[in-house]
Amino acid sequence: MEAADDTRSALLCNIQRFSVHDGPGARSVVFMKGCNLRCAWCHNPESINPNPELLFYAERCIGCGKCFAVCPSGAHVTREGRHIVDRERCVNCLRCADTCYAQALAVSGERVTVDELARQIVEEKPYYGSEGGVTFSGGESMLRIDFLEQILARCAKERVHCAIDTAGNVPWRSFERALAFSPMFLYDIKAADPQTHRRLTGADNARILENLARLSESGARIWIRAPYIPGFNHGEARAIADICSRVNAERVEIVGYHRLGESKYAALGRSGGIDPEPPSRAELEAVRDAFAERGVDAFI
Ligand code: SF4
Ligand code: SF4
Repeated sequence: MEAADDTRSALLCNIQRFSVHDGPGARSVVFMKGCNLRCAWCHNPESINPNPELLFYAERCIGCGKCFAVCPSGAHVTREGRHIVDRERCVNCLRCADTCYAQALAVSGERVTVDELARQIVEEKPYYGSEGGVTFSGGESMLRIDFLEQILARCAKERVHCAIDTAGNVPWRSFERALAFSPMFLYDIKAADPQTHRRLTGADNARILENLARLSESGARIWIRAPYIPGFNHGEARAIADICSRVNAERVEIVGYHRLGESKYAALGRSGGIDPEPPSRAELEAVRDAFAERGVDAFI
């Protein structure tokens, strides 16, 4: 298995081009693997594990049988007429992914070097326009600060605007290192109450909120993103708005739960954990009103 902590390279889930939802202007979003939170509603589940993982999209399988032949552990099996990957048997050697021309099998986790990623980012520079650039997301891109620092330096040299999408659960020193290159931050606030935060994400939010306050004091450009998950953090709106009101944020956005991650859970052979009904427009407007009551103008 590849090492996840090589400082000259990083494992990416993918690079999404022409995003207009991850910072100002048109952006390339670099999704890095590895996260230290376990949000119950995570819609990028393939980014949690820091190592490469096998994805199996059963609906694309044409039944050629090649993966059955190469698998050393007999993990490709047919049960009740359906081809499945038995994850208990799979040893994650990833050999089968190379044999599948139908692209039913794939690997999440492509290793790129600083040089390779910098070259791709610079090549796409004409598409960023005056406002856009590149956003480093994940997973938690700040967990790869050694790599991130190098790529931020290369982007700064090439005058490519950088944003870091973070949940903030890393040592402040990592922020200091990133701040040397003046990126902007897309900062998630998932819950205000520490116990609720722990229940929903597996971690306390003390360090997250402390980092946010220090980031605000530093004068960094900040966009706050507050996920709204009906039935999970619905009671947190006012308290999250109060946190936002103390931060020098340029923009606050309420991001409603969606189900775009569902097919990824199936491809990873995992269950999605929770499955609330995505919020209606009226529900999101009510959350926005709760923010407004606390003096915070939020986008939905
Ligand atoms: S190699 Fe791909 S298409 Fe062939 S059986 Fe395996 S998953 Fe299906
Ligand atoms: S990744 Fe898993 S299913 Fe694929 S060949 Fe290796 S052991 Fe078999």
